[in-house]
Amino acid sequence: MNKSLLEENKAKLLAEQKRLNAILARDTNVDPEIPGGHKPKFDELGSEEGENAHEVEQFQNDLSVAERLEQRLHKVEQALQRIADGTYGQCIQGDMIDEARMRAEPAADICIQHAK
Ligand SMILES: [Zn+2]
Repeated sequence: MNKSLLEENKAKLLAEQKRLNAILARDTNVDPEIPGGHKPKFDELGSEEGENAHEVEQFQNDLSVAERLEQRLHKVEQALQRIADGTYGQCIQGDMIDEARMRAEPAADICIQHAK
C-alpha cells in the first residue's frame, strides 16, 4: 500500500477512534456486565406509565446505538492494530484490498471480491 494513503488513513482512523470514544464517554456509562461494556445513560423513570414505556423504548434504542458504536470502535482499533503490525490493507483472505476501497473505508478488512 502506498505510504501517503497509509498515513492518510491512519489519521482518519485515529480521528474516528477519538470521536467514537468521546461519544461513548458522553452518552454511556461503563458497565462490565453488558457486552461491549457500555450502557446508555438512563434518564430517571417518569411517574406516568406512558412515560416509562417511552423511556424503556428510548433506552432500547440507545442500547443498540451504543452497540453499533462499540462495534465500529472495535473495527477502527483493529485497523490501527494492523497498521502497527504492518498487515494493513490486507484482506482477511490474504490478498491485498485495492486502494480505492481503502480510501473509501479506512477500516476495511476484506476486499470487494471476498465480501460478496
Ligand atoms: Zn480478498
